[in-house]
Amino acid sequence: MSDARIMRLALCFLPLICALAQAQSPAPLRADLTPSLVVAGSPELLRITAPNAVSIDGDWLGRKIQFFPARDHRAWLAVAGVDVEAPAATSTLQIHIHLANGAVHDLTQSIAIHAAHYRTGTLTVPPKFVSPNPDELKQIDADRTLKDKIFAVSANRPLWSGSFRVPVVAPPTDSFGTRRTFNGKLASIHKGMDFRAPSGTVVRASNSGTVALARPLYYEGNCVVLDHGLGLYTVYLHFSRIDVHEGQQVAAGSPLGLSGATGRVTGPHLHWAVRWQGAYLDPAKLLRLPLPANP
Ligand SMILES: [Zn+2]
Repeated sequence: MSDARIMRLALCFLPLICALAQAQSPAPLRADLTPSLVVAGSPELLRITAPNAVSIDGDWLGRKIQFFPARDHRAWLAVAGVDVEAPAATSTLQIHIHLANGAVHDLTQSIAIHAAHYRTGTLTVPPKFVSPNPDELKQIDADRTLKDKIFAVSANRPLWSGSFRVPVVAPPTDSFGTRRTFNGKLASIHKGMDFRAPSGTVVRASNSGTVALARPLYYEGNCVVLDHGLGLYTVYLHFSRIDVHEGQQVAAGSPLGLSGATGRVTGPHLHWAVRWQGAYLDPAKLLRLPLPANP
C-alpha cells in the first residue's frame, strides 16, 4: 500500500478515533458566560460543564452565585451579573466544583469588566423628594428596612421559565445607568428602565415568580417586587393601582396592576428594575438573555 493510500485511510478513520477518545475521557470542566463580553450592568447566564458535580459554589465581586443543575444533567446553570456601578477592571469569578468522588475542582477565572457608556441627565421633582421632612425620613427608613428584609429571602430554586419579556406595551427609554441630578442637587444613578406608559396601562409580570412586595413606598410609589428565585428579582414602580398581593404566585404575562405616577416621578411612566443579589442589572440586556424553559 502506498504512503498516500495509508494517509487517506487514516484520515477516513480520524473522526471515529477522536470520538472514541472523547467517549473514554470525561468531558472537560469549563465555564461559559453569555454574553461573553461583560460590561457594568450586564446580566450573565453562567453555564458550567461538569456532569459529575454534586454541587458548585460561586462568588463574583462579593455576591454569592447559586447554581442549579440543567435538565440534561450535563451542566449547571446560574443567572448572575455585574452591578451598574462596578468599575471597569478585572474581576475574579470564583467557581469551586464539588465532584462525586469528594474532589474539589477550582475553576476560578479572571473576567474583564468593560465600561458601559451611560448618559447623564437632570430632572425636576416636588421638593419633598429632595429634602424630605422628619416624618417623611421616618417612612423612608421604614421602607429601607422592609426592602432589606424582602431582598434577603429568595426562593431556593429558579421560579422563572424561559426568557424575560417586556412588562408593558409602551415605548421604552434608553435611561438605565443615567447619572441624574434632581432639582440641581441630589445625584443618583438611574437603576431601571422607564417605559412611557400613560396612567392606567396594564403592567404584566416579566416572568413567573412570587409577589415579594405589593404596597406603597415613599420614593417608589405603589410598588410590586417579584421574586424569580436564587436572588433574582424584578421591580415595578409608580403604579396607580396594584392588583396582586404579597405571597401570590404569578405566571409570566399575568397582570400586576396599572401604571401611574405615584412616588418620585416627573410624570406617568413605568419604572422597571432588575436586581440580583443586591446588584442592579440592565433590564434591556436581561430581555436579550436566552434562558431555558422549565429550568
Ligand atoms: Zn425610572
